[in-house]
Formats: sequence, structure tokens, C-alpha cells
Amino acid sequence: MEALKMKRLIEDSIRAHSRKRTAETLGDRRLYIGASDLASANGCLRGAAVMKFGLDEYKTELSFQNLLSMHRGHAMERGLFDALLPWVKGMEQLTIEFMVSGIKHQFHLDLVILREEDNGFSVDVFENKTSRQDNPELQDSYVTQIKVQLAALDRYWDTPSFSVRNDQKKMSFPELCRVELGIVPNKVIEGFVPVTSTKDKFEVYGEYLPPDEEFWRQMMSLSRQLYNSSFLPGGAKFVRGFYALCDFCPGQFNCPKFSAVQVETPDKTLKTLKKVEEAIELLVTEEKKMKESLKQYYQLATKTIGKAHIECPTGKFRVITSSREYYTKERIRQSLGKIGLSGEAIDNVLADAVMRSEPSLRLNIVWSDKGKKKSESEKGG
Ligand code: SF4
Repeated sequence: MEALKMKRLIEDSIRAHSRKRTAETLGDRRLYIGASDLASANGCLRGAAVMKFGLDEYKTELSFQNLLSMHRGHAMERGLFDALLPWVKGMEQLTIEFMVSGIKHQFHLDLVILREEDNGFSVDVFENKTSRQDNPELQDSYVTQIKVQLAALDRYWDTPSFSVRNDQKKMSFPELCRVELGIVPNKVIEGFVPVTSTKDKFEVYGEYLPPDEEFWRQMMSLSRQLYNSSFLPGGAKFVRGFYALCDFCPGQFNCPKFSAVQVETPDKTLKTLKKVEEAIELLVTEEKKMKESLKQYYQLATKTIGKAHIECPTGKFRVITSSREYYTKERIRQSLGKIGLSGEAIDNVLADAVMRSEPSLRLNIVWSDKGKKKSESEKGG
């Protein structure tokens, strides 16, 4: 078989596998509100509504690249569980099902393990994430998702709301643990978010504890708003100002935030700007290549000339070693964790320390050959 045909076969298989996996583990996602829906609705209600209820309308927008990214995430999740489960007692894909205000909720917890302690077993919940960024950074939506899961587990613990298979009758959590694992745990619950980056870096965030009543009330109010948005995604509230996930949102092309008035006047400037940006991109690539080649030249040359400058008619150059000092959220987290702060307390410290610059005008352009909207100018930081 030609390599190109084989590539298509693999791509089609990944697409089919993704559909099958979603149907088997999550069912029809339009029929209930899940923990991940609430996490995205907490960021942008409209974006979450479009993702949830507008999938058919937007499904051509889901690129193979996105599917591949999800597939890699599932493969990573599988690998993590395969490594953990021989050593601990645990359940994958724990489902918690409950009704609030006539709305069905179904939360799927990636992995729940029972950890042995002096006075019995406690419960650890894992929400596994794979990040496309170089560093496995914690996102706000991950924290919302694990917290809402912990809240539901805590709240419905003694009610027949839990199962690990679609055909299984619902049981209380202690009963399910007894049936599946032969253990009844204490009601001591903690949550963790393992994040793996595509650059093979790994971090675990936590520990998170079940949040208070107020958090639950806010989430259930959000759930009602999201549910009602299903009938009118266009009317749902959307996030104002800069929001990193807009670039990945399938509802961007008709989002009011990106609404555009059709005018011809500034198009000449835009056209020129586009050419300038493309030329800069080429020049920057060229600059990088040239600098790299001079560095290599210098490194070879210093074997014979020592660490002197190399002088040419146009100028002289040498290569020096430099590094800069910087702080990362992960290192601060680790340090605060070492002195005994909980994941929740660390989140609060980091949130408290955030400084925001003065709002400034920024130009955000969506080029018409890359997206469906032409341009947007907004105020915000
Ligand atoms: S484009 Fe941005 S603001 Fe609009 S719905 Fe999507 S995430 Fe929300």
C-alpha cells in the first residue's frame, strides 16, 4: 500500500475510533450537563453552548489536528492508568448521575483510587489532562472541573447515583466500591490534576478538597444558564476582552464578539499589513537560520582560535553563554506545597499575586483566508 493511502487509512481509523469512544464513554453529550461543560461555561458560556449543542452544525470545523490531539491525550491517559492500577485499587470512568432543577447531570471521573491510610481507605480523584504547550501549566478550567467533580462526589456520596458501566444499576459510592473493589472507603476525598505536556514534561496539581456550598450554587446556576442557552446559542453570554480559547472556539465565526461591519476603506491598509507581516515572518526565519549558521561557524572556529571575536570587514562576532533568572508557577507551586500549603491555598496565593497591566488598545486581526471573520478591534488587556 502506498504511504499516502496508509496515512488516510490511519486518519480515518482515528476519526472512527474517536466517535466510537465518545459514544461508548460519554453517550449523547447533548442530553446532560457534564463537569467539563461547566468548566468551559465558567470561561465562556456561549462557547460552551456552541460546543455542546451545536456540534452537528459545526462538526466540519473539528480538524483532524484537534482529533489527533484528543487521541494523544487519551493514549496518555491510558498509559498513566496502566502504570498506576497494578499498584492501587481504583475505578476508571466513574459516572455520577443526578438531577438538579429538572436538568440531568452526568459527570465522568477519569480515575478514582482508594488509598490505604492508618484508619482505613481515603478517596483520590484524578482529572487527567494533556497540554499542547511546552510546559504542563494548570488552567482555570481544569481547577473548575476537578472541584465540581469533588463537590458532586461529596454531595451524592450516599445516594444511588454512581456506576462504572453503562449497563450497571446505580449505587451509592460506598456500595459501588464494595461491589467493584471489595472495600468501603471513609468519606475523605481529595482531587489531583496530572498534566502532561507534548514536550514530555509532567506535573501533578493538587490536592483539592470538596468546595463549599456557595461554589455548588454558582455551578448549578451556570448549569441552568448553559441548559437554557441550548435553545438560543446566539443569545448566550460571551466572554469580553482577550480570551485565549477564542482562537480554538468552533463558534467564533458567528460570535457577536467578532461581529464585523463590511467596509472597503481600510482594506488597502490591511492588504499591505498582511504582506508586511508575511515578509517579516520570512525575514525572522531567515535571521534565525543565519544566526544559527554563524554560531556553528564560531564553535568550529574556536577549536583553533580560542574564545576571541571573529572579525570580518562588516563587523565582528563571538558566541557567549548567557542565562536569565525567572519564576514559573509550577516551581512556586512546588515550593509552597513543600511548606505544607494545600492545592486550594496555593491557587489563592497565586490568584492574589496576579498583577494586571493598564488596559491598552490592541488590534486583533483574523485574516480572511485563515478564518471566516475579517477583523476586530477591541479595547482590553
Ligand atoms: S469566540 Fe470567544 S467569546 Fe465567542 S463564543 Fe467562542 S470563546 Fe466565547
